[in-house]
Amino acid sequence: MRMRLLLSLLAALATISPMRGENPFDFAGTPGKLPKHIVPEEYAIRITPDAKKLTFTGSETIRLEVREPSRTIVLNSAEISITSATLNGKALPKSAIQLDPEEETLTITAPAELPAGKHTLALTFSGKINQQGQGLYYADYAEQGTGEKKRMLGTQFQATDARRMFPCWDEPVFRARFQLTAIVPQSWTAVSNMPIERETKARGKKELHFALTPSMPSYLNVLCAGELDFIEKESAGVLHRVFATRGKAQLGHYALASAEQVTGYFNDYFGTPYPLPKLDQIAVPGGFGGAMENWGGITYFESRLLFDPERSSSSTKQGIYEVIAHEIAHQWFGNLVTMAWWDNLWLNEGFASWMGSKVTAQFNPEWEVWLQSETPRNPTRRAGIAKEAAMEMDARSTTHPIQQPVKTEAEANSAFDVITYRKGQSFIRMLESFLGEEAFRQGIRAYMQQHKYSNTTTADLWKALSEASGQPVQEIAAAWTEQPGFPVVQVARSADGRLTLTQERFTINFPDAPPLEWKIPLTYRVAGAGEPVNLLMEGRTVEISDIPADRAVKLNIEGAGNYRVQYDPASWQLLLAELPRLSSADRVNLLSDAWALVQADRVPLVHYLQLIEKLPTATELAEREQIITAFQFISRLLAQDPKRQQFHQYARSILRPSFDALGWDPKPGEPPRHAALRTSLIAALAKFGDEGIIAGAAERFALYLQKPESLPPDLRAPVLATVGRHADAAIWTKLHERGRSTTSLEEKQEYYDALTAAIDPELIARTLKIALTDELPASRAVTLVGKVARDTERPDLAWTFAKANMKQLLAKNDALGASEYAPGLFNFFAEPARVDELREYAKTLPAGSAKAVEAAADEITFRVQFRQRLLDQLQTWGSGAPPRD
Ligand SMILES: [Zn+2]
Repeated sequence: MRMRLLLSLLAALATISPMRGENPFDFAGTPGKLPKHIVPEEYAIRITPDAKKLTFTGSETIRLEVREPSRTIVLNSAEISITSATLNGKALPKSAIQLDPEEETLTITAPAELPAGKHTLALTFSGKINQQGQGLYYADYAEQGTGEKKRMLGTQFQATDARRMFPCWDEPVFRARFQLTAIVPQSWTAVSNMPIERETKARGKKELHFALTPSMPSYLNVLCAGELDFIEKESAGVLHRVFATRGKAQLGHYALASAEQVTGYFNDYFGTPYPLPKLDQIAVPGGFGGAMENWGGITYFESRLLFDPERSSSSTKQGIYEVIAHEIAHQWFGNLVTMAWWDNLWLNEGFASWMGSKVTAQFNPEWEVWLQSETPRNPTRRAGIAKEAAMEMDARSTTHPIQQPVKTEAEANSAFDVITYRKGQSFIRMLESFLGEEAFRQGIRAYMQQHKYSNTTTADLWKALSEASGQPVQEIAAAWTEQPGFPVVQVARSADGRLTLTQERFTINFPDAPPLEWKIPLTYRVAGAGEPVNLLMEGRTVEISDIPADRAVKLNIEGAGNYRVQYDPASWQLLLAELPRLSSADRVNLLSDAWALVQADRVPLVHYLQLIEKLPTATELAEREQIITAFQFISRLLAQDPKRQQFHQYARSILRPSFDALGWDPKPGEPPRHAALRTSLIAALAKFGDEGIIAGAAERFALYLQKPESLPPDLRAPVLATVGRHADAAIWTKLHERGRSTTSLEEKQEYYDALTAAIDPELIARTLKIALTDELPASRAVTLVGKVARDTERPDLAWTFAKANMKQLLAKNDALGASEYAPGLFNFFAEPARVDELREYAKTLPAGSAKAVEAAADEITFRVQFRQRLLDQLQTWGSGAPPRD
């Protein structure tokens, strides 16, 4: 008992002690594996790839500065064989070259101590071209028009894979200038960070000499090569180009125009113009699933960049803009100024995510960007804007502070998660709205000016923002970046017009969470009282007086804050009555909070359902999407239970009127949100067993096979998915044939998504086998198994298959994916025994899986409990109507 008391006392003390507080950037004090007394200044690298043999040979000359006399030089190298080394022009014996595969280092021992000053290290080496997007990789594809099988090469170096193409100081603090030369076949085009300075013929090949880069970290290097086409446009002194495999560059016009627009905005916002002579967007038909901000040569998975005005869907278009905006924001925030170490990755990613959303919203108000961030619809790792997905993760026992210690390569790779990106973004948004748009921008401009071509820590950003705003930013920020989780603010009204606000940590499935406290930049509005009020909540409770007893009060205006709100019954009833007069953003925020409170077991499901039933309109996109997401989760949990029928009936009764208002066919001049909502409703209603929708999809599919132009691009994905779900062998084969033969990666993905939806166990087995073939790019093939687990509600079949073929599947993953792959498949189970099975299996998994294993174990226990709770609450459910309390 004393022990317990002591522990809780310590925990209480922990909540009031000040945060650690980070130091500003300092080279010597930056974490990392490599010694800091020898630093590279300039690299000249030559790479000759052999695309057939999947190998390359290379050489490099590195100009070094030795700051303290030393006999050894330690740098990074992985999966590379060193054939020779020369130091200051003198060849070194083999014994002077030592590779450590475990540590991924190369140690060169000099014949005598190297004095402080400039030195030159030259190496020749060879390595391999990978299937997965790690180091130098290949992507095979069918050429547009000819259908011929072709191969393209690309690179992916973040976080720690530049060392797989050339030995280097592969930590972000070791900035240097890079000059790359690539030797490729005559018919090829190659792209790197800088323009080509010289081109010469070399033994039937051509040698491309790229200009020297500015000072930058190694992970931002890029080389893409193949039979490529491009389009270009010069704007404000910068050459913008879009590269794609031959025959596809014409699909890059939307990307080109977007890149130009976004760059113009950032030139102004950051107050420092884009510093390179050119900025390329490069479409790669494989390698990885996302995009990478390599300086001057951004790479994208092809369907995230190319847009076909005739055939692409509007969600593809929106996704392209968002990802371009995110990656171009990195050209400043990340590239020009770089986080010193991976523990500050959140600064790069949170900021680029926020900035990308901000510019997307600015130029495309009809997309309702911030509203969409309230629904966890697109929780992909490197793009998408789902704040809700981050809050869900951050409420669990397995969360982490957005600023977290990183020691190993595996930890650096696993830092790229939803918390880093989305909580980072969400906190920055909250901070901007608290400091004011203008003061925030002044701070960012000063930060860019002061730190360009250098590295920083979070403390440097807070300092710049404090100076610009006069607010104690470091003090406010510390709890949000250095401790896990976030608060819920409880609202209690008293009869004398006082509102008492109390904060506590908000958790889901985490009963003994350490109590924590935050300085919360709160906003609230009293109904009928005009402008919202800003209030920094500094302690555990705060009181607001003089609130008229009949007026509703809404906290967290437009959902811009990263906290939940729980209202007492009197406040809640007033808000329900106020719903028609609240903005859609406020209503979505109420829905999200209510659903989270249900998950956290703070209120019963009926609390959320009553809110849904009082919503004044049936066609607000973000509101319906929030509902669809919650309903789909409930539906999956009830998969094996007879109660599901009744729940589906209820779900249809809520959603069908929305679809009836929109109809099947796009109306001329309708807002984009109607098109997006129609798509979501078709997919959802079909899953909830709406016979009319299922039959409508089948009819449209039959017509589509005869006349492809009969189906509007936005309807293609939901119609194919619905047909796929109910497919028999003949339909499955038809979908498969179409998917195989199309050269559009966007459509290909839609066909294969339809295959993963098929619920017939024999067809599930057929779909799973595709993951082992090379029909799809490796990065996409591996996702088939997880999609089957989720969409067919047969995670058991997906897992049995994955277990039997794990080696092949892991080989198709990059480092990022490999550590999360197997645990990720357990996320869909709601059976307690699976936790033990996962923990046992985890012993065989790659390093860095531990976090993903714990997260999956937590997800299973959460689902088990949540499922039981729902079943108990649905006990009293009659036909179609929700239970009343
Ligand atoms: Zn990013």
